[in-house]
Amino acid sequence: MSNSKPSILVADDTPSNLELLSCLLEGDYKILLAATGQEAVELALAHTPDLILLDVLMPGMDGYEACRQLKADGRTADIPVIFVTALDHEADETRGLELGAIDFISKPFSHPIVKARIRNHMELKQQRDILKGLSWLDSLTGIANRRRFDQVLDREWRRHIRNQVPLSLIMMDIDFFKAFNDAAGHIQGDGCLRQVAQALAEVFQRPGDLLARYGGEEFVGLLGETDVTGAWITAERIQEALAALALPHPCSDVAPCITLSMGVASRDPGAAGTAEALLQAADRALYQAKEAGRNRIVLAVD
Ligand code: GH3
Ligand code: MG
Ligand code: MG
Repeated sequence: MSNSKPSILVADDTPSNLELLSCLLEGDYKILLAATGQEAVELALAHTPDLILLDVLMPGMDGYEACRQLKADGRTADIPVIFVTALDHEADETRGLELGAIDFISKPFSHPIVKARIRNHMELKQQRDILKGLSWLDSLTGIANRRRFDQVLDREWRRHIRNQVPLSLIMMDIDFFKAFNDAAGHIQGDGCLRQVAQALAEVFQRPGDLLARYGGEEFVGLLGETDVTGAWITAERIQEALAALALPHPCSDVAPCITLSMGVASRDPGAAGTAEALLQAADRALYQAKEAGRNRIVLAVD
């Protein structure tokens, strides 16, 4: 969540209504205006506002249909919708709420009450966003957790197919970490995981990158719009970052400090396959890196 004002999209076909709501709310919120249901859906997709105020009766796509479309699209489904309308029958309100709207305000409305209701809904929305953000984080290391990774991989996989661009994964596993824990203790082990995660996070910094803790001492990096060469270079940079971190490992068979084995897999534009298959390919390559002696990078070949 940014520090800027929360945003509200207001959709109404009557200019005076748009003006009234803008005047009422613009001190506290950034306001986006739409004159039709169609425009409301388009602006919601483009700007992901924090809240949407929808008139019901609009020419073309009405508010109900706009709400239905917003709720049916994963990209906008979580944005709370409030109907603000001259319709005031029980059936109208029921229909709006059944479509997934969070509230229904009948015109004419009391300005202070509308402001207060919107403030309450906005607070709830922001609390939900914070909780959602926390549910995506690994509590030990502070990086994304596996649930978040699975969600982003699914989304990015589809986006990369659509845009015909390459996508790469790096699976990483700390070498001889059980021995490290046995020798140094679990608390030290936890500290080591945090430091490794921090060092990796410095490598995965591009906008299309996602680093996650995949399991105990396993990490996974998603490299958006990155081909096999880029992924290989990134894996080498990870090795360098670990060497620079130089966390002593008292009983590793491969090095005096903490090292990683890595499996790299890439999907070329136009290639067939699934996200799961790409993940499995990276995992198999990681296994081969372990078998071949650890502290190395193996590229998946298909
Ligand atoms: P390999 O080189 O084959 O990967 O050997 P390894 O010892 O790293 O792998 P193994 O899967 O046998 O052991 C993983 C160890 O990671 C076991 C467990 O003690 C440790 N581990 C997993 N999660 C955590 C954690 O959250 N904290 C700590 N301290 N240790 C963890
Ligand atoms: Mg390991
Ligand atoms: Mg492991």
